[in-house]
Amino acid sequence: MDTSRSDERHAMVKEQLEKRGIRDPRVLQAMRDVPRHLFVPPQFQNKAYEDGPLPIESGQTISQPYIVASMIELIEPQPAFRVLEVGVGSGYSVAVLSPLVAQVYGVERDSALLAQAETKFKEMGLANIQVKLGDGTLGWEDESPFDAILVTAGSPRVPSSLLAQLKVGGVLVIPVGKREEQNLMRVVKRSKDGYQEKTLYPVRFVPLIGKEGWPGAG
Ligand code: SAM
Repeated sequence: MDTSRSDERHAMVKEQLEKRGIRDPRVLQAMRDVPRHLFVPPQFQNKAYEDGPLPIESGQTISQPYIVASMIELIEPQPAFRVLEVGVGSGYSVAVLSPLVAQVYGVERDSALLAQAETKFKEMGLANIQVKLGDGTLGWEDESPFDAILVTAGSPRVPSSLLAQLKVGGVLVIPVGKREEQNLMRVVKRSKDGYQEKTLYPVRFVPLIGKEGWPGAG
């Protein structure tokens, strides 16, 4: 892993994550280790460790470091987990998940973003990641069931395909609400058809576009 700008990452973890209550030591370590600046466009690299989201290619965003850490902490990642992320985007949150779990699966609908993210995973030697192009609102049935699913785009509802692809005991973390603003939700699958939902805090994500998300242009 690239160790440059490690001081900035340590400061980011201390000021933005620990002070706001992120506690899982493995999540904090992954946030110290993964070079966020390599996942943002060159013109924003000087802002890579600031406390906010940044624009990436294709009109999308890389989430605020705190939101990435919080969503990952909410799935309570364990070394044996198989995790699906819907909305690979820059690839940053997949790269943070990679050292924390056994296998990360990612779905992204934008081919240019996905190709860039795959190149970065290869360059960084992250070997436990599989990604595919497609509509992540439908999950990745062939690789299911998952211990946890993270959705990093805002959805009008909880997609039923994603619930169906969780193991019993598995956790889905997803922003749900309007196109412009949502609430982060944590859903635990308690039995084959039984779910426990908790609404956590307000967030603003780009829209989840797809069959079980928002209608989109193409
Ligand atoms: N996790 C990303 C990161 O670390 O950079 C941030 C993701 S960005 C906020 C949301 C991403 O979701 C965009 O790249 C967008 O193209 C993607 N997206 C939107 N709808 C999708 C869908 N139905 N399936 C897969 N990806 C989708």
